[in-house]
Amino acid sequence: MAETLDLFEQPNRTTALKQLANFVPKAGMSYTSKRNYDFGPANHNYVSQLSPFIRRRVLSETEVLSSVLKKHGLSSSEKFVQEVFWRTYWKGWLEMRPSVWSEYQSDLKRLEDQIMTQSGLRRSWEMACEGNTEIDCFDFWAKELKETGYLHNHSRMWFASIWIFTLNLPWQLGADFFLRHLLDGDPASNTLSWKWVAGLQTHGKTYLARRDNIFKFTNNRFAPNGLSYSAPALPGIPHPGLSSLNLHNTPKSNLKTGLLLHDDDLELSTILNGLQIDSTIAINNANELSPWECAKSVYKFVNSLIEDASKRYKDRIGTVKIVKKPEEIIAWSEENNLDQIVTAYAATGPNATMITNLNRLGLNIIQISKKYDQKAWPHATHGFFRFKEKIPALVKELGLTS
Ligand SMILES: Cc1cc2nc3c(=O)[nH]c(=O)nc-3n(C[C@H](O)[C@H](O)[C@H](O)COP(=O)(O)OP(=O)(O)OC[C@H]3O[C@@H](n4cnc5c(N)ncnc54)[C@H](O)[C@@H]3O)c2cc1C
Repeated sequence: MAETLDLFEQPNRTTALKQLANFVPKAGMSYTSKRNYDFGPANHNYVSQLSPFIRRRVLSETEVLSSVLKKHGLSSSEKFVQEVFWRTYWKGWLEMRPSVWSEYQSDLKRLEDQIMTQSGLRRSWEMACEGNTEIDCFDFWAKELKETGYLHNHSRMWFASIWIFTLNLPWQLGADFFLRHLLDGDPASNTLSWKWVAGLQTHGKTYLARRDNIFKFTNNRFAPNGLSYSAPALPGIPHPGLSSLNLHNTPKSNLKTGLLLHDDDLELSTILNGLQIDSTIAINNANELSPWECAKSVYKFVNSLIEDASKRYKDRIGTVKIVKKPEEIIAWSEENNLDQIVTAYAATGPNATMITNLNRLGLNIIQISKKYDQKAWPHATHGFFRFKEKIPALVKELGLTS
C-alpha cells in the first residue's frame, strides 16, 4: 500500500527548498513529457510535489517560477509554468466569485443532513471514502490519499470522475473528502477542479475517466472494469457576476499593531515591511474546511508549518501562540490593547470568513496582499485559455526571469 512521503513528515521551509532544488532540473523536458504518468506513491518523481508548500506560501509562486524560469526559460518550461498559473487562475476566479464557495458550503450542510437520514447514500459515501468500492484503482487512490495526504493530478481527475459518473455520488461530498485529507487542500483549486470534472465550471464540458487511459498513464498498474461510458454534465446555474477585488490595504505605522498568522500565506516579509509588531498570534483553522473533522495529518501539517514560520521570523514577531478559535483572537487583541492587526491576505475560504466576522465584531484586521496576486488575479475573468495568454506579460511584469 501507499508509503508515506518523507517530504511531508517533518514539513518546514528547508525541506521545501530542498525539494524545489531537486525538482528544478526536471521542470523542462522531463516534466513536459512525463507529468501525466502516475507511477505510484513512492514514485511521483516527474511532478514537483510542491503543492502543500505552495498552498501555504511556505514557497511562494514567485520563487518557484523564478527558479524554474532561470534554469529553463519560458519556452522549455511552459507546461510547468502554466500549471503554477492554473493555481493562480483558480484563486483569482474564486476571489471574484466568492459566493461559489458559500454555495458549496451550504450544499455540504444539506448533504450532511441527507447522510444522516438516507442510509443508501450514507453507505455508498462510506464505501467510497473507505476505498471499498471494488474498483481497484479508485480504492487504491482513496487509501493513498488518506495515508499520504497527496495524489497525482491525473489520479485526482480519474478519482473525481469515477466518484461522480460511476458511483453517482454528489460532487460536493467528493470535494469534501479531498479537502479533509489533502495536505494541499485548497478552497479554490479543489472546489473548482471538482466542478470542472462535473461539467459545472466550463459549462457542459465534463471529464470522463477511461480504462485505456488509466492503464496507459498508471504505467499498466490498473485496468478497471465497470466504469461509466458517459459523463453527462450535471445541471448547473450560470456563474455569478464578478465581485471587485480589494487588494490594496495599508496599515498605519503609528498604531499599536498585532500580527495574525494563518495558513493561507506564511510568507511574512511583505507584511512586516517597516512595521513594529507588539504581539503575534496564529490560528489553525483546518477544522473549518468541512462539516466533518479534517484528517489529523492535515491539522498537524498546518501546525508544523506555522511553528516553522514562527521560528524563522522570531526576531521580528516574538513568541507565537497557536489557537483554534476566533474568540481567542478577540481575547488576545483585548489583552494587548491592539489598535490594528495585520495579516496576510486570506483568499476565499475559512480564514477569510473568520476575518470578515472578526472585523464585524469590531476588530481592525488589515489584510496585506502580494504583488503577484494583485497583478494576476484581475485577469481571471473568463476561462483559463484567455488567462493563459497573459502569462508571458505577467512573467515580465513580475520580473520572474531577471
Ligand atoms: C479533483 C481535483 C482536485 C484538486 N484539488 C487541489 C487542491 O485542493 N489543492 C491544490 O493545490 N491543487 C489541487 N488540484 C490541482 C492539482 O492536482 C495539484 O495542484 C497537483 O497535483 C499538485 O501536485 P504537484 O505539486 O506535484 O504538481 P506539479 O505538477 O508539480 O505542479 C506544480 C504546481 O502547480 C500547481 N498546479 C499543478 N496542477 C494544477 C491544477 N490542475 N490546478 C491548480 N494548480 C495546479 C500546484 O501548485 C503545483 O504544486 C486538484 C485537481 C483535481 C483534478
